[in-house]
Amino acid sequence: MELLKRRIREDGRVLSEQVLNVNAFLNHGVDPKLISEMGRTFADRFRETGVTRVITIESSGIAIAYATAIELGVPLVYARRRTALMNEGEYYAERVPSFTKGIVTDIIVAKTLLTSNDRVLFIDDFIANGDAAKGLLRIIERAGATLAGAGIAIEKAFQPGGQWLRDRGVRVESLARIASLSGGQVRFVGE
Ligand code: 5GP
Repeated sequence: MELLKRRIREDGRVLSEQVLNVNAFLNHGVDPKLISEMGRTFADRFRETGVTRVITIESSGIAIAYATAIELGVPLVYARRRTALMNEGEYYAERVPSFTKGIVTDIIVAKTLLTSNDRVLFIDDFIANGDAAKGLLRIIERAGATLAGAGIAIEKAFQPGGQWLRDRGVRVESLARIASLSGGQVRFVGE
């Protein structure tokens, strides 16, 4: 998606060889027009797959997932981080290491919000090592739901998450695929 790539070039900040900061338009500041366009693009790519629900993880995936869900006309559920006050039996919980925070958290989804009749589309802002995706996939499996595919805004293709999903037969659609962040420069796949 050229619009997103251009915005990354203009306003993205390379923090290290591993991490790109997109706080200007996606992770802190949110550009609604760009996000809506991303939602339309994901919806167009997955419209024929019979999606019944969009799923993401709080908080940075929510805006894009919402934009996608509204285009597809389906509900959205976002996995929350576990808090002390929850009734364990009512939730699926999975342990997920956080790529950016360097800590491990439990993500939870209420059993009432994901059922065996669901075909879910996973949407997220980034994929790096794929830990967030793996945690959500386990929850989807435990619910007996089906994964229709994964829509990722920014895939860092030099890290293994995207390929891990494809190797498992998951259809992955990434809007911008980054080949490298070396030397403080963003280089996209195919450039
Ligand atoms: P993974 O679980 O695939 O290793 O990492 C995915 C999650 O970590 C994403 O949901 C995103 O929030 C965060 N993340 C991974 N890499 C980056 C990055 O380069 N920049 C930012 N801002 N977030 C990232």
